[in-house]
Amino acid sequence: MQMKKCKKCLKYTLKNECCGEKTGASAPPKFSIEDRFWKQRMKARGLLK
Ligand SMILES: [Zn+2]
Repeated sequence: MQMKKCKKCLKYTLKNECCGEKTGASAPPKFSIEDRFWKQRMKARGLLK
């Protein structure tokens, strides 16, 4: 299953249509990358041990 995103209400859905418009494929998850940067930032601030 590919998660799709409605361009109108910006909600993720599995449907092909939402709000009367076709939904687009959501961008690939980049949480792992962001999480790594987040941890580096937190470490730099001394908030993460
Ligand atoms: Zn929608």
